[in-house]
Amino acid sequence: MTQFTDLGLAEPILRALTDEGYETPTPIQCEVIPAMIEGRDVLGIAQTGTGKTAAFTLPILNSILEQDQRPQPKTCRALILSPTRELSAQILENVRGYGRHMRVSSTLIVGGVKPGPQIRALSKGVDVLVATPGRLLDLMESGAVRLNQTTTLILDEADQMLDLGFFPAIRKIVGFLPKKRQTALLSATMPKPIRALAHEMLDDPKQVSVAPASRPIERIEQSVVLLPKESKKDLLLELMSDRAVERAIVFSRTKHGADKINRHLVDFGLKSAAIHGNKSQAQRIKALDGFKTGSVKILVATDIAARGIDVDNVSHVVNHDLPNIPEAYVHRIGRTARAGKSGVAVSMCEPGEYEYLRDIERLTGLDIERVYLGDEDKFLAEAKNATPAASQKKQQRPARKKAFTGGGRPQGQGGGRPRSAGGGQSSGGSHGGGGAKRPRRRNRSGAGSPARA
Ligand code: AMP
Repeated sequence: MTQFTDLGLAEPILRALTDEGYETPTPIQCEVIPAMIEGRDVLGIAQTGTGKTAAFTLPILNSILEQDQRPQPKTCRALILSPTRELSAQILENVRGYGRHMRVSSTLIVGGVKPGPQIRALSKGVDVLVATPGRLLDLMESGAVRLNQTTTLILDEADQMLDLGFFPAIRKIVGFLPKKRQTALLSATMPKPIRALAHEMLDDPKQVSVAPASRPIERIEQSVVLLPKESKKDLLLELMSDRAVERAIVFSRTKHGADKINRHLVDFGLKSAAIHGNKSQAQRIKALDGFKTGSVKILVATDIAARGIDVDNVSHVVNHDLPNIPEAYVHRIGRTARAGKSGVAVSMCEPGEYEYLRDIERLTGLDIERVYLGDEDKFLAEAKNATPAASQKKQQRPARKKAFTGGGRPQGQGGGRPRSAGGGQSSGGSHGGGGAKRPRRRNRSGAGSPARA
């Protein structure tokens, strides 16, 4: 079995890995670290949780150890671009942790906070700069940072940067980097625009793929509850009141929806906080810190805010709304079952979201266990009549393309709510009101999914 000592890393880095308690490199580390030390470009398909941050951070630190010059003012040697403030902060934490036994300067450039301290931190130049594209571009335009000395570029979570509309900014940023440089691009999924960007920016990259990108982690127990829209609130309370829930993330498709769900949980006496793009940086940090320390048990999040969350012991993920982009499902449920643990992912699906469920099952190749809360035939009939939700979704899809070709900043959460069947009226029947009932189980295990075979 490959050991860290086989990968060509210098002693101060190996010592930091021992401090971290890492015993052996993960598969992506085994492949990426030697390739980057050799100077090769890398194209990696990997989700969070695979150890990808260390895979690109350790070779950067190794090359900094080999250089004895300090960086020039307002420059950086290595630039790591990531989609969100939280993820950038987490990467910086890793850089500093793995670099604790060496001299390495590093800083963070993200939006949502005053630029003054960031400009000062950059004034002497840094070895490693971790940034989100929007703020970095602002500081480049104001002359606070120059990238002409940057010899390593990492694009992390490229697919989310695409979804957020960051590609025009990335292209601009890359235009200021030296042509002769090392580039690594990492992405959980590899849609066409990412392949195109990789083709443009990478030179004969080593291609690495760990765990098929669109398959959820096997240790997660997944199920979906098919129910009328108005039963979601009660079911959520029932799920969150279960003592088996240690820490849970509840996903909402919209920011407004996240606030509403959070208020509902807090009113019920549960320790919950919301995190999304409309929250201030201070609020986001407070919610995330509370979640990490345990004072907040439930984090209600949108897809964008959730990307950087790497918290152990998330026992449950609940999709209050199914995502209209099926890849987001994979990212969402990957917040649980981290660090070798198992986890539970429960999704709620109202009739207007049934198409999203089918998209998810198509993408993942899974036949997710179904539980009908209420009458199954009625649900399916309503889902069938809810075709407007599906066509609405198809119209939303190009947003991704627009984000790629059009300019501008992140657009927040993609897509609005699908129209529920029956134009938002109660679907009536026996399951509409009252307290949360135990979902009636109907296991489709006989369905013979090839993925399970
Ligand atoms: P990432 O995929 O970069 O988000 O990393 C997921 C988690 O795995 C982080 O909490 C890392 O600290 C941890 N980790 C990374 N590499 C290793 C390793 N070789 N052994 C054990 N844990 C690791």
